[in-house]
Amino acid sequence: MRWLTPGGLVAACAVGIGVAWGFGWPGLVVLAAFLLSGSLLTQLAERRAPRRTARQVLANGGVAAVAAFLGSWAAAAGAIAAATADTWATESGAFSPIPPRLVTSWRRVTRGTSGGITALGTLGGAAGAATIAWLAHALAPRGHAPGFATLAGAGVAGMLADSLLGATLQGKYECPACDARFERGNTVCHEPVRLTTGRRWLDNDAVNFAATLVGAAVAAIGTHVPH
Ligand SMILES: [Zn+2]
Repeated sequence: MRWLTPGGLVAACAVGIGVAWGFGWPGLVVLAAFLLSGSLLTQLAERRAPRRTARQVLANGGVAAVAAFLGSWAAAAGAIAAATADTWATESGAFSPIPPRLVTSWRRVTRGTSGGITALGTLGGAAGAATIAWLAHALAPRGHAPGFATLAGAGVAGMLADSLLGATLQGKYECPACDARFERGNTVCHEPVRLTTGRRWLDNDAVNFAATLVGAAVAAIGTHVPH
């Protein structure tokens, strides 16, 4: 497998089974749209993504699988819309001629910094959320009819939560010897890196998981709570 570690493959199968159990082929079509569009954009950006681990797969697809398994089309679609928005935002942001700014302080940051946003990346993310929203609205099983705007909004809310958490609570690290910055706590530069801001337990995977949870919650509330 080029895309997944062996553990990642097992996790991906579990996510697929959860979604298929809940909603059959329409669920799998929405999930496939997320996976295929993501890997296509990664190839377009000519980025060589490392193979995904089980933890990374579950961070992006776990909430959708559980929501589908429990029978909420809206929550599952909202989670997938959020994961798609994040992926599209990252990949299209790579083409931005203007360097990103931190979503909180508006300070310029280097490309790839968590919490950094660009106009192009944000537009790309919104387009990703809208694509999943359109598909999930069109394929919704009888009796499950989340609105297009609710689902697109859920995806954008998830993307925003991802940036906000990335800028604030996500753990950021620095090499004590050369001041190079890192986002993985187990990195060794000249010396083992040291935590400078954020929480050690809140890494990129945990932030992705929280973002999909926000997407699921916004979609479920927007659909099931009477206005
Ligand atoms: Zn160093």
